[in-house]
Amino acid sequence: MERDGRLRSLWQEGVTAYQPHNIFTTDSGYDVLIIGGGITGLTTALLLQQAGRKCMLAEAHHIGFGTTGGTTAHLNTMLDTPYSTIAKNFGDDAAKQMADGCKEAIYTVEQLAAKYDITCDLLNKTAVLFAETDDQVKSLDDIYNSALEAGVLAEPETEVQMPVGFKKGYRFPDQAQIHPLKYINGLAKAFEDAGGVIAEQCLIKELSSDAGVITAHTTRGDIHTQYAVYATHVVPGVNIFSFRCAPYRSYVMAFSLKSGEYPTTMIYDAQDPYHYIRTHEVNGRKYVIAGGYDHKTGHNADTEAVFTKLEQYIREYFDVEAIAYRWSSQYYESVDGLPYVGQMPGHENVFVATGFGGNGMILGSLSGKIISDMIISGNSPYKDLLSPGRIKFLAGMSNFIKENADVISMFIGKRLDYEHVEQLADIAANEAKVIEYNGSHIALYKDVKGRIHALDPVCPHAKCIVVWNSAEKSWDCPCHGGRYSIDGTLLTGPATKGLTPIDWSHL
Ligand SMILES: Cc1cc2nc3c(=O)[nH]c(=O)nc-3n(C[C@H](O)[C@H](O)[C@H](O)COP(=O)(O)OP(=O)(O)OC[C@H]3O[C@@H](n4cnc5c(N)ncnc54)[C@H](O)[C@@H]3O)c2cc1C
Repeated sequence: MERDGRLRSLWQEGVTAYQPHNIFTTDSGYDVLIIGGGITGLTTALLLQQAGRKCMLAEAHHIGFGTTGGTTAHLNTMLDTPYSTIAKNFGDDAAKQMADGCKEAIYTVEQLAAKYDITCDLLNKTAVLFAETDDQVKSLDDIYNSALEAGVLAEPETEVQMPVGFKKGYRFPDQAQIHPLKYINGLAKAFEDAGGVIAEQCLIKELSSDAGVITAHTTRGDIHTQYAVYATHVVPGVNIFSFRCAPYRSYVMAFSLKSGEYPTTMIYDAQDPYHYIRTHEVNGRKYVIAGGYDHKTGHNADTEAVFTKLEQYIREYFDVEAIAYRWSSQYYESVDGLPYVGQMPGHENVFVATGFGGNGMILGSLSGKIISDMIISGNSPYKDLLSPGRIKFLAGMSNFIKENADVISMFIGKRLDYEHVEQLADIAANEAKVIEYNGSHIALYKDVKGRIHALDPVCPHAKCIVVWNSAEKSWDCPCHGGRYSIDGTLLTGPATKGLTPIDWSHL
């Protein structure tokens, strides 16, 4: 099975693509159309279908194509946004509610896996966080104290399962880990067994609404539905989320070890950017999975160098036998550190779940619970806190907006003059660049056979210029994270179409 990057993730190993078996038809209407076949969409779809709603899930590619196929699948009760930050910005009750939400999400995964007999390597785990400097101790103490206040179980720890000198450590019991693709393939089967319908290769281009009926205009025909749910990770189109969520790339490597002694806990350091480590067994072989070095999409030209740094870090502490897998994937940071889950502003009966940061396996599962509750009963305890329409001006927000100023600065006013551009294609095989000619741009990739793949580099989403991602061999948009293959095919939203290819032979 494929995912939205060239590098194979450990999860793709030995897992066959899910084959939908119920017949998809556009003839009959649906109660709920769920858009997106990752953990968020499938959790939402299954919870609604098992509650008696007639559901359809539409996926532009295939189940697991998005970030769920490139995650690291830790299920944590501590979030990337510390509980102290949530308490400061939204109040103590909000911090407690988010802590409860994480526990509820882990419980939801455990319950669904048990109920539908999903073999997904689900394991209860302890997470160990450690600090190496005085500054790190300060932030770790803050994470620990605010977690306790929010109701998360944690205690001091003196052992870290890697040979690192550290000043302080804390353990967080009752975390979990899963194999993400086995889990969502299990959800997909349970959903279809309950009568749900899955349409793959079905891109939702637009939603329109008339007299209480929503029509989804798709590449496989129009679909009519009462409710629609954007579980697309990033909401397609130019909308408020384009300016409230920022796309980030994150890197992962899986190593085999000579000693055969793999950590049994999940380990997190407190560096900036931080590293995190866990073990997973796939097809009888164990791997240390290490992740980190996140950066804003399109803002690090040398993505290969990032893997080198991650490898060096792991080699310092573990007796690496071989690098088995390396890959990267994308997530979306929200402006205030909490996800946007609920009714889409200005769109009746359209729901959305986005802005999960690096916690979307947890927050996507929680979103499934929230949105299904809202559709079934009209309410959810999280409705106000996570409302997508919330506007709260927080300290740091202006930084976020500044950081995203390239949304504006990367816009180009002038389109390409294609004449005489060939002479500028001075690039080596397997390399790419955006060249400028007469103030306009063209994206060029030369494959290993020396063929040129030329694209209009203007991202159709908000007209920014894409940049080359050498690790995943994709064109990435630095503004909102739209990603495209070398032939321009859309890999990752928020755009709803690809980059326009340029017929190089005629240039
Ligand atoms: C490297 C990395 C490690 C991570 N590790 C963790 C972790 O340990 N724990 C954790 O909790 N979170 C983690 N996360 C975050 C988490 O993996 C994601 O937030 C989560 O997988 C998102 O799931 P999703 O279903 O919302 O989106 P996705 O899995 O991206 O699925 C969205 C789907 O929607 C489809 N789609 C998009 N647009 C359309 C359209 N217009 N029509 C039809 N279909 C469409 C896409 O093709 C895609 O398949 C990590 C993220 C990264 C990048």
